[in-house]
Amino acid sequence: MTPATSTARGLDGQFVRGLTAQLRATSGSTFDEWSPLTGRLLATIPLSSADDVDAAIAVARGFQPRWARVPAAERAGCLLRLHDLLLDNQDGLLDLVCAESGKARMDAYVELVHLALTARYYGRRARRQLRARRARGVVPGLTRVDVNRVPKGVIGLITPWNYPLTMALCDGIAALAAGNAVVHKPDSQTVLSALAGIALLRAAGVPAEAWQVVAAPGPEVGPRLVAGCDMIAFTGSTATGRQLATATAGRLTSITAELGGKNPLIVLDDADLDAAAAGAVRACFDNAGQLCVHIERIYADARVYDGFRERFVAAVRQLVVAPGLGWDCQVGTLISADQLAKVDDHVSDARAKGATVVCGGRPRPDLAPWCYEPTVLEGVTAAMRCHLDETFGPVVSLYRFDGEDEAVALANEGDRGLNASIWTTDHARGRRLARRLRAGTVNINEGYAAALASIDAPMGGMGASGLGRRQGAEGLLRFTEAQTVATQRLLPLDLGPHSLLAGGDVRRAVRLLDRGLRALRTAGRP
Ligand code: NAD
Repeated sequence: MTPATSTARGLDGQFVRGLTAQLRATSGSTFDEWSPLTGRLLATIPLSSADDVDAAIAVARGFQPRWARVPAAERAGCLLRLHDLLLDNQDGLLDLVCAESGKARMDAYVELVHLALTARYYGRRARRQLRARRARGVVPGLTRVDVNRVPKGVIGLITPWNYPLTMALCDGIAALAAGNAVVHKPDSQTVLSALAGIALLRAAGVPAEAWQVVAAPGPEVGPRLVAGCDMIAFTGSTATGRQLATATAGRLTSITAELGGKNPLIVLDDADLDAAAAGAVRACFDNAGQLCVHIERIYADARVYDGFRERFVAAVRQLVVAPGLGWDCQVGTLISADQLAKVDDHVSDARAKGATVVCGGRPRPDLAPWCYEPTVLEGVTAAMRCHLDETFGPVVSLYRFDGEDEAVALANEGDRGLNASIWTTDHARGRRLARRLRAGTVNINEGYAAALASIDAPMGGMGASGLGRRQGAEGLLRFTEAQTVATQRLLPLDLGPHSLLAGGDVRRAVRLLDRGLRALRTAGRP
C-alpha cells in the first residue's frame, strides 16, 4: 500500500477510488470526510443506499455456505496472511489511520498490532476451537453425543471510528474463521481505514463475496442489517447498542455489543507511585482518550493521594500534543467538532459547578481544529456530567478514598462495567480486589493494555458496557451455534410397557430408573 497522504493535500484521488471500489454503493450520491488534522476535505466517498445493504446481504448469504465448506485450516490461513500484510504495508496504513482519525502515530501502530495479534491468534487457534467435541451421553456406551459448531450465517458488523482499522476487522475476522460471511458498515468518518484493511483481507485470499461493505449513516442502514442478518456484532456507544438490542430482540436475532465505559483506576496505599503515575498517564490519554477501555476516574488512597497527584500531574504536563503524521506526537487530536463540543461541555459543566481544573481544560485550535488539552480535574461531584457519563476524551477526575471497601464502592458506581485498573505492589491483594469490581477486564499494574493485548482471554463489558465478549474462544464461538448430535445405538431409550426395563409393567421401569438415579447420585456422577 503506497503512503497515501500529505495532510495538507488530502488523499490521492486514485488511491481513494481504488479503496472505495470495494464498496457496494449504487445510490449515485456521495458524502465527504474531513481531516481532523487540518479541518479540510480529505476524501469524497460513494454513499450506499438501503437497497445496497439488501444486495450486500443477498451476496453474502448466497456465498456463505461455500465459505463454510472451505476447510477451517484454509480459512485460518487467510488470517495468517493478513497478519503479514499488515506488517508489510505498515507505513501507508499508519498514514491513512492518522489522516482519517487524527490520532498519534503510535496509537495507530498499536491498533495495527492489536489487529495483527488477533489475526495470528485466530489463524492459529480457530481450527481447534471450532472442532466438534464429544459430550457424555445419557447412557454411556449406548448414547454417543457430538457437539458441533455451526456458523451463524451472515453477520452484520457495525464498527466505530475510534480504532478505525482494528475495530473494523478484529471481530469480523473471527466471524470469517468460523465460516460466516460478513456485511460490514464502518463509521462514515473513517471508511477508508476500514477499506484499506478489507483490501488486505482480500489480498490475503478472502473472496469479496464473503466480506461485503457498505458506507452510509447508521440509522439508515441499521434496520436493514438487523432485518437481513443472522447476527449483529456491534461496537459503539451504549445509546446505539440499546437501540440495536431492542431491534434485534423483536426478531430474535442474536447480538453482541461492545459499548462505552467510565473506567476507574485505583491506587492502593502500597502502590509504586512512580509506576502508577506513568501508567495512569498512558491509560488516560492514549488515543487522546477516545478509547473505550481508557481511564476517566482515578481513585487514590488518602495516604498516598498527594504523592500520586504530584507525579501524575507533572507527567501530564510533559505530554507532547502535536497532531500530525510523525512519531513525535504523544497525544493527537479529537476526531470531530462534535467530539470536541462534547468534551468541552463536560469540562465547562464541571468548572461551572465548582470543580478545579488542575491542568489542561482548553481546546487547542492552534494545533488542530478539534484538538483538546490533556485535562485533570479535582473536586468533581455527582452533580457534574463528567462524574459518571463517558466523556470519551482526554479528561480525567481525581478522587480520594479511605480503605479498600470505599475504593470498591466508588469504582462500582454507575451503570458501566467495561475496564478497571488497580495499582499495588501486592499482586495477590490486587487480584482479590479485582473480584469485587464490576468490570469485564481488570488490569493490575497496567491501565488497559495488558488485558486488551492478551487475545487468548475474553474482553467485554458488564452492565451497560455490553453484551458478549470478543477475543479468546468466546470471541470466536459467539459466531457459531452449538449443535448437539446424539446417536443412540443397540437399545432404544424406551420406558413403555414393552421396553426391556418395564417388562410389561411401566411401574417397574419407573422403580428401576429411580434406583439407578439414586445410585448415580451416591456414586458422585455428574
Ligand atoms: P455510535 O454508536 O454513535 O456509532 C458506532 C457505529 O454505529 C457507527 O458505525 C455508526 O454509524 C453506527 N450507528 C449509529 N447509529 C446507528 C443505528 N441506529 N443503527 C445502526 N448503526 C448505527 O458510537 P460513537 O459514539 O461513534 O463511538 C464511540 C463509542 O463507542 C464510545 O462510547 C466508546 O466507548 C464505544 N466503543 C466501545 C468499544 C468496546 O470494545 N467496548 C470499542 C470502541 C468504541
